[in-house]
Amino acid sequence: MDINEFIMSNEMLIRVVFFFGMLGIMALWEIVAPRRALTVSKSVRWINNLGLVFFNSLLLRLLFPAAAVGMAAFANEQGWGIFNYYEIPFWLSVMVSVIAMDFIIYLQHVMVHAVPVLWRLHRVHHADLDYDVTTGARFHPIEIIISMLIKLATIAVMGPPVLAIIIFEVLLNAMAMFNHGNVGLPEWLDKPLRFFVVTPDMHRVHHSIEDDEANSNFGFNLSWWDRLFGTYREQPRAGHLGMTIGIRNFRSVKQASWISGMLLMPFIGKLSGYVINRRQWNNATEGNIDEK
Ligand SMILES: [Zn+2]
Ligand SMILES: [Zn+2]
Repeated sequence: MDINEFIMSNEMLIRVVFFFGMLGIMALWEIVAPRRALTVSKSVRWINNLGLVFFNSLLLRLLFPAAAVGMAAFANEQGWGIFNYYEIPFWLSVMVSVIAMDFIIYLQHVMVHAVPVLWRLHRVHHADLDYDVTTGARFHPIEIIISMLIKLATIAVMGPPVLAIIIFEVLLNAMAMFNHGNVGLPEWLDKPLRFFVVTPDMHRVHHSIEDDEANSNFGFNLSWWDRLFGTYREQPRAGHLGMTIGIRNFRSVKQASWISGMLLMPFIGKLSGYVINRRQWNNATEGNIDEK
């Protein structure tokens, strides 16, 4: 059995093992040394956040049974994409593909913040009143579907090896759980690590209730993109213990923490409400942070 066949037939198992492995490690870490006190009970958060994750996984399997690895295998067969067009060493195409897909996911994240109707979907991720390992996987099903379509299109254009897809997906999943952890690394470790990857303290800034802070640190794996494109922010103004997590307009547990609230969230409120946020963001990115 060659590597592609192995990945294709064990894809689900590989993903499930890494998901529950990382969930277990982070859950233990959060119990032993939590960074912040939770405002909503852990059982309510976990049942609803993981319930949504489970629902999304089922939905993806149903809509895209071949998934991203199937698309990569198909693109390879058809000779689609840049990597199938040029003679590139296998290891190099795996490495470049993983890095390129991480860049695409960074751009996609910036886009879902910048386009009002997409922000309606993405705010489900941000409305979580606390920040822990389960926040990392909580997204609205429509955002999950859009995300998958962007990924499939990227694969068709790039033609990455199947191995690169499984490495990228497992890595993204594990890193998202790591950097959404309600944990903190000591400064001597956090600082050097941040030159390469996104740490929990770095991504927590992105979940701040403050618009300018929420519009920074978009990366999930590599921290380079934020540094390169000027969206990097070192720390939240109020500090990690003093900052407020979430979105201003969604502060009730029923809306922000229950599955029903999360599913309905994109359809609540007028679009004009966003204009105010946009202006605040523009002010903030021009350096007039106090003009709110
Ligand atoms: Zn975001
Ligand atoms: Zn996040």
